[in-house]
Amino acid sequence: MATNRTFTMLKPDAVEKGHIGAILEKINASGFRIVAMKLTQMTTADAKEFYAIHKERPFFGELVEYMTRGPIVAAILEKENAVEDFRTLIGATNPAEAAEGTIRKLYAASIGENAVHGSDSDENAAIEGAFHFSGRDMF
Ligand code: ATP
Ligand code: MG
Repeated sequence: MATNRTFTMLKPDAVEKGHIGAILEKINASGFRIVAMKLTQMTTADAKEFYAIHKERPFFGELVEYMTRGPIVAAILEKENAVEDFRTLIGATNPAEAAEGTIRKLYAASIGENAVHGSDSDENAAIEGAFHFSGRDMF
């Protein structure tokens, strides 16, 4: 099951700029099925835990501030090869390096404020999905 699922967040900058609809349209058009989805806001503790892998990086404080400053859309998505295909759809971390037509190329402002998150492995997709959703909210 986990091999066909990924986890995403439409980050605070994307929500603030009114890009929820456009990004979901691209996600649907790219063949992902929405398994779970909600508008929510991360607490500081949530963001520190979610991005714990980056806690020694110089941008960690900035990242936590950014990810907690407003609502996000959290979702679990299903598709064959979901993790890799979704990373392709969102594009490089730095929008300046993202391919044409990718979500980050279209909607991200900078490497820090890059509009969308995509899990980087099947294992992390399962962990991150479980961080935001319980079984009764998955369809
Ligand atoms: P995500 O995990 O959000 O999908 P990613 O896997 O493409 O992004 P990571 O290396 O995991 O990139 O970095 C996590 C997040 O930390 C980035 O999406 C970005 O918001 C922020 N970030 C990464 N590198 C930098 C940087 N050099 N300066 C500022 N913020 C950064
Ligand atoms: Mg990452």
